[in-house]
Amino acid sequence: MKIVRKPERVTIVVIPDADQSVHRFTVQRRLLVSIPFLAILLLLLCALFFGLYTNNHIVKNELQAELSAKQAHYAQLIGEKEQTIRKLQADIAGLSEQTGEVMDKMEQLEQLEDELRGMTGKIEAESEPDPLKTASSSPYIHNRFVGGDPYPLLEKDTPALTSTTKQTLLSLQSEMDALYTDLSDMKKEVVALQHLQEITPTIWPVSSRTVTSRYGFRKDPFTGIASFHSGIDIGATTDTAVHSAAAGTVETANYHDARGYNIVIKHGNGIKTWYMHLSKMLVEEGDQVTKGQEIGYVGSTGRSTGPHLHYEVLINGEKVDPAPYMNSSS
Ligand SMILES: [Zn+2]
Repeated sequence: MKIVRKPERVTIVVIPDADQSVHRFTVQRRLLVSIPFLAILLLLLCALFFGLYTNNHIVKNELQAELSAKQAHYAQLIGEKEQTIRKLQADIAGLSEQTGEVMDKMEQLEQLEDELRGMTGKIEAESEPDPLKTASSSPYIHNRFVGGDPYPLLEKDTPALTSTTKQTLLSLQSEMDALYTDLSDMKKEVVALQHLQEITPTIWPVSSRTVTSRYGFRKDPFTGIASFHSGIDIGATTDTAVHSAAAGTVETANYHDARGYNIVIKHGNGIKTWYMHLSKMLVEEGDQVTKGQEIGYVGSTGRSTGPHLHYEVLINGEKVDPAPYMNSSS
């Protein structure tokens, strides 16, 4: 077997022209074979670099576009935030103004409370003036009288105004709590007064205003001898309604030879009223009666010369002049 070995080197002959000398290049055979591969590799590298460059360019453009869009978005956001801040500042100024108005209303309420307290007979001692209520040092905006140059709320003043408004609101809250307590106390006083009014005889026990005999010494109509008359006699036609002069409990309702049909009503605070010579009684012992309730009718039962109501007022068991307990208007 014969092995033919290819030569290691290859000679390339270049013939430029017929009259010029021939150029010979001897190159390694392996090198000659690798040239096409190197060329292909080079081409591939070029393609790769071109691709990378093109891609980078696109990415860069995209990023720039994205950046511009974001910048525009943030500019819009900042604009919106600034608008919101301006609106909030305006709101704070408005809130401060409203707080001032509420303070004024609170002052009016407190004045009204003082007046009411005066009406219930208990005027509180003058209290220390509240510095927040002093108009000259009033820290909040008052626009009651509007005019002059406009002074917009500066950003640096906003926290101070907010803080002042907050403090004013806190102060208002504590004042309102105090007012609520005062008004609750006053309500109790009014209820007590209403009860006192209810249990105190103040009305005429009959519609008639004909007083036939007053409280005091008089000549007795039966004996002609001077004697003490312990009540008021009011002349009225038989069966005229008799009303309880105040709310209370019927202590006794019975017949007596001298007093006839008579009713004693206990009102509390040691006060009692007594109604005598009735033709008929509408209540009995133990009944609760309201002020003005019909308890019987005018008559002439017992020691009586004609139809009339003998009316007495007793304070702690002592018979007093009923006149001061009979309000002419009722
Ligand atoms: Zn009498």
